[in-house]
Amino acid sequence: MNNKAFNPFEMAQAQFDKVADQIDLDAATRDLLRFPLREYHISIPVRMDDGSVRIFRGFRVQHNDARGPAKGGIRFHPQETADTVRALSMWMTWKCAVVDIPLGGSKGGVICDPHNLSMREQEQICRGWVRQLSKVIGPLVDVPAPDVMTNAQHMLWMLDEFEIIHGNKLPGFITGKPVGMGGSLGRTEATGFGVIFALREALKELGIRPEDTTASVQGFGNVAQYAIKLYEQIGGKVICVSCWDQNDQTSYSFKKESGIGFESLQNITDRFGGINKDKARDIGYEILPGDAWLGQDVDILMPAALEHQITGENVNKISRRVKIIAEGANGPTTPEADRIISERKIFLIPDFLTNAGGVTCSYFEQVQSNMNYFWEKDEVLGKLDVKMTSAFNAVSELARKRKLYMRDAAYYIAIGRVAQACKDRGWV
Ligand code: NAD
Repeated sequence: MNNKAFNPFEMAQAQFDKVADQIDLDAATRDLLRFPLREYHISIPVRMDDGSVRIFRGFRVQHNDARGPAKGGIRFHPQETADTVRALSMWMTWKCAVVDIPLGGSKGGVICDPHNLSMREQEQICRGWVRQLSKVIGPLVDVPAPDVMTNAQHMLWMLDEFEIIHGNKLPGFITGKPVGMGGSLGRTEATGFGVIFALREALKELGIRPEDTTASVQGFGNVAQYAIKLYEQIGGKVICVSCWDQNDQTSYSFKKESGIGFESLQNITDRFGGINKDKARDIGYEILPGDAWLGQDVDILMPAALEHQITGENVNKISRRVKIIAEGANGPTTPEADRIISERKIFLIPDFLTNAGGVTCSYFEQVQSNMNYFWEKDEVLGKLDVKMTSAFNAVSELARKRKLYMRDAAYYIAIGRVAQACKDRGWV
């Protein structure tokens, strides 16, 4: 989204095509899976606090639902595009398939900047989004969730609007709800913790102890924060974190060679994952340019902010010491960068496997909401660990056996499962 020439949907299609060629996917299945099944473009009129009316544009893209109801988050972002949402919906299909949960892939978005909107205005956008789409989403059709710059409060407004429209209590309509209002314990931590469950398995496979590693992270939002928290708990040390500065409209990296310390940094971070520069400087952080996180002399890189961050232009900044890249964000690495990462034999844990903890826990939330019976946090996180570990092991075993790049191995498994479901249904 930060580069006009970059088209995430073309990138998602290129990744798909590469593996479709390798597995000789038949022409009809390929044609079906290269594009979304359905997409909706909507306009949401909102009366602003100053009395004026503004129209916000939004999307919902359902890439594939052969394996079950579509599932995917809603992003609020000023540079949201239909192609970003298309790409993300496609990655959701592969993500649900690679962790083997019975869901398809979708994604939604609204072009807006919550930084500049009051809570009331945000509520109107949420309710308007549901009003425009209520006929084509639902607990057995397509289930939304939070994503970039949306949270549990947004989900609850959306659920409330959906239930008003349908005159029924339908808590399985949406996930990421507040705990106590149908949300699952562990959901907040799920994506970040899932990143570390996968990373822990990768370290095991490479025979490296977490205590002997350091990491540099892009982002300090939901995914990055919980990934850092658990990574520190298993013994790792994060020395650099990068995030967006809303005031300066640029990004900065925050470095502390002795280790950042999750809590001290969290205390000076706003709810959008922006770190206060002055306070950081006061507590001993070195403030560096936004892209400095990528060139750090560490063992592990975790891009956990947004797409298109490791590219053909900057991939050579990656230090020779880096052994693992764990992609917390969706689509952070371009195919050109992939080629170099693969040649350098860096162990890459691909996005739709690494960050599948969020959707897996969302699936657990749906199950709990539909049963109206809620599990303890340990039970949720325990089930999450089992799912992430077995998905990681299946992908890495295939990669080892067939000498595949990890991203390609994950695609082999995911595309294979979705293609089979389409075939079994008689679609192709
Ligand atoms: P978030 O909004 O909570 O945090 C985003 C973070 O990225 C913030 O710290 C922000 O300052 C930082 N950031 C934004 N632009 C940046 C830039 N140019 N340079 C450096 N930092 C920048 O979002 P999140 O929920 O943590 O999601 C992060 C990524 O993970 C996204 O790609 C999202 O699609 C993906 N993801 C999220 C979830 C989830 O459950 N939240 C699940 C799967 C995937």
